[in-house]
Amino acid sequence: MNLPIKKVVIAGGGTAGWMAAATISHHLGPVLDIRLIESEEIGTVGVGEATVPPMQTFHKLLNIDEQEFLRATQGTFKLGINFENWGQKGDEYIHSFGITGKELWMADFVHFWVKAKGMGLKQDYGDFCLELQAAKMGKFAITENPRTNYAYHFNASLYAKFLRKYSEARGVRRTEGKIVEVATHSDNGFIKSVTLASGEVVEGDLFIDCTGFRGLLIEQTLHTGYEDWSQWLLNDSAIASQTKNPGPALPYTRAVAHQAGWQWHIPLQSRIGTGFVYCSKYISDEDARKTFIDNLPGELINEPIVLKFKTGRRKKSWNKNCIALGLSSGFIEPLESTSIHLIMNSALRLVRFFPSNGIQEANVAEYNQQTVNEIERIRDFVILHYKATERDDTPYWRYCRDMAIPETLAHRINLFKETAIAYKAEGEIFFMDSWSQVMIGQRIIPSAYHPYVDAINHQDLCKYMEEFSEDIKKRAMVLPSHEDFVRAYCSENDA
Ligand SMILES: Cc1cc2nc3c(=O)[nH]c(=O)nc-3n(C[C@H](O)[C@H](O)[C@H](O)COP(=O)(O)OP(=O)(O)OC[C@H]3O[C@@H](n4cnc5c(N)ncnc54)[C@H](O)[C@@H]3O)c2cc1C
Repeated sequence: MNLPIKKVVIAGGGTAGWMAAATISHHLGPVLDIRLIESEEIGTVGVGEATVPPMQTFHKLLNIDEQEFLRATQGTFKLGINFENWGQKGDEYIHSFGITGKELWMADFVHFWVKAKGMGLKQDYGDFCLELQAAKMGKFAITENPRTNYAYHFNASLYAKFLRKYSEARGVRRTEGKIVEVATHSDNGFIKSVTLASGEVVEGDLFIDCTGFRGLLIEQTLHTGYEDWSQWLLNDSAIASQTKNPGPALPYTRAVAHQAGWQWHIPLQSRIGTGFVYCSKYISDEDARKTFIDNLPGELINEPIVLKFKTGRRKKSWNKNCIALGLSSGFIEPLESTSIHLIMNSALRLVRFFPSNGIQEANVAEYNQQTVNEIERIRDFVILHYKATERDDTPYWRYCRDMAIPETLAHRINLFKETAIAYKAEGEIFFMDSWSQVMIGQRIIPSAYHPYVDAINHQDLCKYMEEFSEDIKKRAMVLPSHEDFVRAYCSENDA
């Protein structure tokens, strides 16, 4: 247990495996021997192409050039997610990554908007956010003052390829092969080695399980256990494929709700990734396929694949000398594109907590606690989209509307309803603006606001708000189109 860690074995070469390899080799490569084993026969999950803004920081930490990355992965820019038919059929709102309005230390902008709206202000909450307006207009530019908040859409298999090249240049040794056996030490149950179909035995001090949903090491070998969240996030299946891009790539993801699930549209430079996420208890695979086909954004390129999953988290992401990253550590459905973010943060956390001098219980416990805190907050944010619905047109939506939710989320919703206060908890990815945009977008309108707002003259407040939103619109209008920006900045044709 307390032996120095020198040999790191990464099992799996999907997005998680290669992100782990890139992160560890960049930061600790010179002092470690890193091997990655992946099986082409098994392949990767083949989805996972929308991200959230901290990915920019991840790439900066790894000295990855943004233009090179986007060119190599057919990448585009993402300013947020357009939610269609969520609060009610016909509703539409964007959860954007931008800041809405202006902050005041004692009361966020939402308090001023609630008051003004009550007095007849026409503008929606989203009219005060530059990124959101730019998204609506199909515009995009990277600006510094104010800084554009954006994320990426990219081709997942090209991203793994890109990171493979990056990692191999930093000393990671890749082995193609299928792991058929995992051996543990008889005294403490730690993982000793993995055996490949070729008969090769690969020993290691630390094992990173990136084998996807199967969790070959963390679950099939160490029997770590899984906390099931499907009572709140009931979708358990997805049907996914790709289509041709019928027009310019939009600078946002679309999430279109249907009778028992929702469909994503992720626009890349030369195609759209699309998939229908659904609950098999409320819609058959056959009907799901029909819904998916009926709502395709363009002409299909590939035969659709069907994926089955259970939402939840591994009871311990780090167990003995095994750390699970990616789908092997748990899964929250892709509504807010958070899985790659969790991989990224866990890989960076692992570097921070790296057990060079052996595995210490306190280190493992803290790593696991931070991982739980992070994923539970994301879980609550995703549940919010289902709970805050007024849809009652199908049993699926009635279940969502009426279900009991985690206490932590119930508190947030009540707080917002009663006081207009939303907040970003420590270590949480989503800002206050994200919470308020989604709650308002899904018809949760606060019944009160901060008393300071009443200190401002009513007419002055409304005039200020109108001028503010006009200014945002003008600033969005002068930006280049997303298509032109991508063509000039990172077109795959320039690669
Ligand atoms: C429907 C759906 C949509 C999603 N959309 C998004 C999204 O938009 N944004 C986002 O952030 N995330 C999304 N995700 C999650 C995202 O796809 C994953 O987090 C990401 O792809 C990482 O997957 P992975 O590397 O853990 O697993 P996988 O891609 O499954 O990779 C597993 C690897 O392990 C290898 N392997 C397995 N068993 C063995 C063995 N016995 N021997 C050798 N190698 C083995 C495989 O060959 C493969 O290389 C989505 C997930 C699903 C299911």
